[in-house]
Amino acid sequence: MTALSLKNVNKSFGDIHVLKDINIEVEEGEFVVFVGPSGCGKSTLLRVIAGLEDATSGEIHIAGNQVNLTPPSKRGIAMVFQSYALYPHLNVRGNMTLALKQEGQPKAVIAERVQKAANMLDLGPYLDRYPSELSGGQRQRVAIGRAIVREPKLFLFDEPLSNLDAALRMNTRIEIANLHSQLGASMIYVTHDQTEAMTLADKIVVLRDGRVEQIGSPMELYNNPANQFVAGFLGAPS
Ligand code: ADP
Ligand code: MG
Repeated sequence: MTALSLKNVNKSFGDIHVLKDINIEVEEGEFVVFVGPSGCGKSTLLRVIAGLEDATSGEIHIAGNQVNLTPPSKRGIAMVFQSYALYPHLNVRGNMTLALKQEGQPKAVIAERVQKAANMLDLGPYLDRYPSELSGGQRQRVAIGRAIVREPKLFLFDEPLSNLDAALRMNTRIEIANLHSQLGASMIYVTHDQTEAMTLADKIVVLRDGRVEQIGSPMELYNNPANQFVAGFLGAPS
């Protein structure tokens, strides 16, 4: 089963053509990393997949259904942003349950999912704290927890570690890899960090100036980069 299929997706903002004929397939359970320099369109691509932006043309299929006109909350995905985007006036529990309450989930289901996610992320002791009382790493775990409780089939991560220091980045990276194997969900992970891409990915999509430059496993890209650009990003030093 294909979790996500993008067919000739284009996105323009006025005269600015940001995404150009994007074709990507993500298989169920696959961990796919999008890499590319700042401004190449990574966040826009995630936002188009999530439905936060409309594609100008092309088709988006999630789990076999065409979702171009499906609102974000009905796409079966959850997105984790670089900026955490937590609600400052809600405590950790409130942040993690808001979407579930809006979905009208029963209280028992909400309580069970929050407990499960809190255990996975070691957030149990922090459920009554407010975002301002948490460290950066804890806030990012809450943002991840908020995605997990929705039990999405597809997770979208937009540079989730870029605001963390080096040691925390490594811990959180390992945590995300563990989550992926525990949850078995498909994940798309945006980064411009080569180490993150090489260690996390089943498959890497290299983006440049709104186009797909190359798609392959970390080893394929490392050993056989299609061109100098890919080599510069991921390839073996020559
Ligand atoms: P990345 O995440 O790879 O750094 P982005 O997707 O944020 O890149 O941006 C890609 C390009 O699209 C940039 O040139 C950016 O200025 C432009 N862009 C993104 N969002 C908008 C918008 N809402 N309106 C106009 N231009 C935008
Ligand atoms: Mg971005």
